[in-house]
Amino acid sequence: MANILIIGACGQIGTELTKKLRAVYGTNAVIASDVRKGDPDFVASGPFEVVNALDYNQVEHVIEKYNVEDVYLMAALLSATAEKNPAFAWDLNMNSLFHVLNLAKGGKIKKIFWPSSIAVFGPTTPKQNTPQYTIMEPSTVYGISKQSGERWCEYYHNIYGVDVRSIRYPGLISWSTPPGGGTTDYAVDIYHKALENGSYTCFLSEETRLPMMYMDDAIRATVEIMQAPAESISIRSSYNLSAMDFTPAEVAEAIQREIPDFTIGYEPDFRQKIADSWPQSIDDSSARADWGWQHEFNLESMTKDMLIHLESLKHEN
Ligand code: NAD
Repeated sequence: MANILIIGACGQIGTELTKKLRAVYGTNAVIASDVRKGDPDFVASGPFEVVNALDYNQVEHVIEKYNVEDVYLMAALLSATAEKNPAFAWDLNMNSLFHVLNLAKGGKIKKIFWPSSIAVFGPTTPKQNTPQYTIMEPSTVYGISKQSGERWCEYYHNIYGVDVRSIRYPGLISWSTPPGGGTTDYAVDIYHKALENGSYTCFLSEETRLPMMYMDDAIRATVEIMQAPAESISIRSSYNLSAMDFTPAEVAEAIQREIPDFTIGYEPDFRQKIADSWPQSIDDSSARADWGWQHEFNLESMTKDMLIHLESLKHEN
């Protein structure tokens, strides 16, 4: 039987994606892998392998061992962390991608999912309703690696026929797994702190507007783009994807509607500059037309869902 491999499965997205793919395709059909062992319950919840995405032979070995057809490559250094270690970020983000693209080119796997990001855009990109095709001059190491990755994905599709599919995720918000060092991490933290101490100090300024998405929507988009017939995927670089956009002040107001005493302060740090270089809202009409993308969550429904889940986690612990 053909199986699925997730590389970087212990991260913010990988954990949720593993659970979802196992619910859809069966536990034993989805092999979770990461360079580290994450939460013990997660590692014990199905097939798990320690794999370094930078080691071609290790990746190839796991693919052969489990008869893997589809690979979801989630390992990467994210925006804020990448700025602190540019050379390693370039190495990890590019070479892990080349390994899976080359495995597909050599016929060892059939389909790849590789996430891109709104970080592919830069200060010269139109900020509102950023189009699918527009000026792209990313100014962060992370953005440069994602834009280069997109170019290589399209190249491997055009020249070698590799079936690679990709989404430019906006900032992702989830209650069950912590974020991994991105510029939009505040939008997760703020909910935790609202329940823990009723106040939050934000590392971005109050009017910083960014595109965001609830994890449930991002995971569903990932599954849907991979299930879509190959003919409907007209873009082989990466699709713009959108659900909502908001500022820290607007999330604070949404939280105050549920927790009236909640207060917020602002102390912008180095991440402000990264955020200022990114779009404020995204035009995702190509994803909607090509493979039927539709978001479900907006700021209000996400806020209610986040607080309900975090509250019940508090009572469990
Ligand atoms: P994360 O940092 O939470 O998780 C990444 C995982 O990769 C970690 O578990 C880490 O241990 C693992 N990893 C690191 N180096 C590895 C290696 N050499 N071999 C194997 N595993 C390794 O990141 P995430 O938020 O889950 O992001 C996953 C992907 O989605 C990344 O490509 C990221 O750029 C992209 N993305 C994320 C967001 C977001 O808001 N979370 C937004 C846009 C794009």
